[in-house]
Amino acid sequence: TMEYGPAPEANDAVLAWLAAKGGRTRHFIDGAFVDPAEGGSFEVVNPASGEVLIAAAQGGKADIDAAVAAARRVLPAWSALPGHVRARHLYALARLLQKRERFFAVLESMDNGKPIRESRDGDIPLAVRHFYHHAGWAEVLEAEFPGHEPVGVCGQIIPWNFPLLMLAWKVAPALAAGNTVVLKPAEFTPLTAVAFAELCREAGLPAGVVNIVTGDGATGAALVEHPGVDKIAFTGSTEVGRLIRRATAGTGKKLSLELGGKSPFVVFDDADLDSAVEGVVDAVWFNQGQVCCAGSRLLVHEAVADRFHARLKARAQRLRVGDPLDKSTDIGAVAAGVQLERIRSLVEAGRAEGAACWQPDIALPTRGFFFPPTILTGVAPASIVAQEEIFGPVLVTMTFRTQDEAVALANNTRYGLSASIWSETLNVALDAAARIKAGVIWLNGTNMFDAAAGFGGYRESGYGREGGHAGMAEYLKAPDKAARKARRAAPAAAADFTA
Ligand code: NAD
Repeated sequence: TMEYGPAPEANDAVLAWLAAKGGRTRHFIDGAFVDPAEGGSFEVVNPASGEVLIAAAQGGKADIDAAVAAARRVLPAWSALPGHVRARHLYALARLLQKRERFFAVLESMDNGKPIRESRDGDIPLAVRHFYHHAGWAEVLEAEFPGHEPVGVCGQIIPWNFPLLMLAWKVAPALAAGNTVVLKPAEFTPLTAVAFAELCREAGLPAGVVNIVTGDGATGAALVEHPGVDKIAFTGSTEVGRLIRRATAGTGKKLSLELGGKSPFVVFDDADLDSAVEGVVDAVWFNQGQVCCAGSRLLVHEAVADRFHARLKARAQRLRVGDPLDKSTDIGAVAAGVQLERIRSLVEAGRAEGAACWQPDIALPTRGFFFPPTILTGVAPASIVAQEEIFGPVLVTMTFRTQDEAVALANNTRYGLSASIWSETLNVALDAAARIKAGVIWLNGTNMFDAAAGFGGYRESGYGREGGHAGMAEYLKAPDKAARKARRAAPAAAADFTA
């Protein structure tokens, strides 16, 4: 018998929810659940077992047309609401989601393979917090962004690593600013988005404000190309980000991209090594390493490298890989079979390049897509595994002798999303932080997220920020400077307007 995470009744509720769908989920368009116009579907697999959970609607051009039309129809009314009224809708969504946290945690873990401890204590509470935080933004919008207008209809495309949390990062600020949304979840993990659509209905959100169309990359491309969309917000791979930038260039669409990373985790010789070991566990073995800001490149001072590696291996040996729904599991299943193959082939490339590969002596589950925590040492800075994002539980390690060398290695990447720096000397840590080019820098910590702080990258990690003031600005149009000047010059005209 297995000890389940949140509560057995949550598992039953999820199974009942799946069964009630009659084998297939539908799109959420204009406040209603509808079958795809062209009738296609795709299988949603539980990566921990390889079993099909359900089929999901494959969105086509006609579905995207209908969703964009609905979002456009309701836009004037929604954006004209005072911020504090939109805030009430966001609070209602936050409260409902909070009430259903257990259900969403189990559904997320079944769909994505992440340990229930993470979905229960991380993904879902953070998503709830994001809605509460942005309800607050809606309340203060007019004061904080005077004269600003919403961008309009937002097409939002999200990845599978944090399905509901990425939805929250996209939907909450968009709605707070007065935009309407067409969201396309990732094809591996559409289920919590469908369940969220049900919450939108239950919360009484006006029809068309949030539309959710499930499907694959082609569905995403149709959304990107749709002329009725004013902004595209994308989180995913750098390759697809590049395609989207090309497709939107010259169209006048606003664009924000959150892409990949190969973030450095720098351990100086005076670091608290035990804390730093726990930091690595969190940096690269959390969520099976499928984290855009994963600290996947360990840079450790050569004086402490042997000691640090030994402690790290002893710790990794104790990580429990297995059933995501077992609350003692540390590492669950990788999200999909193709991802598992990608991780395997990159680790092979590392071996072929001469890296030494360490894996713990543990048995993996015989079904599903599992990969053990892995450490590659003896890695050259220019090698494939030091440069390519692996997006799996694989750490590459390199050593340095001086602070300058540490900073140079840290910056030897085409990405620039995050960095984690470990030292007990404030000056050393702050000096490195100032010289490492990354959107987010953590000192003696890692993977800390706050709805109030802007998150995003440099270089090939994308542009634009999500969260906080900077994240809100991405969903607003600044007041036209000329119009402002004209208003100042002719106050009488303004008076006419209000009359
Ligand atoms: P992906 O780019 O293949 O897919 C992401 C989304 O884009 C999916 O919904 C997919 O259906 C859609 N898509 C695919 N092709 C498209 C196209 N031509 N036009 C429009 N949409 C298209 O990435 P993935 O494999 O799902 O996610 C993993 C990647 O995402 C990693 O590289 C990771 O670093 C990155 N990521 C970045 C962040 C961040 O905040 N920077 C967060 C999470 C993930």
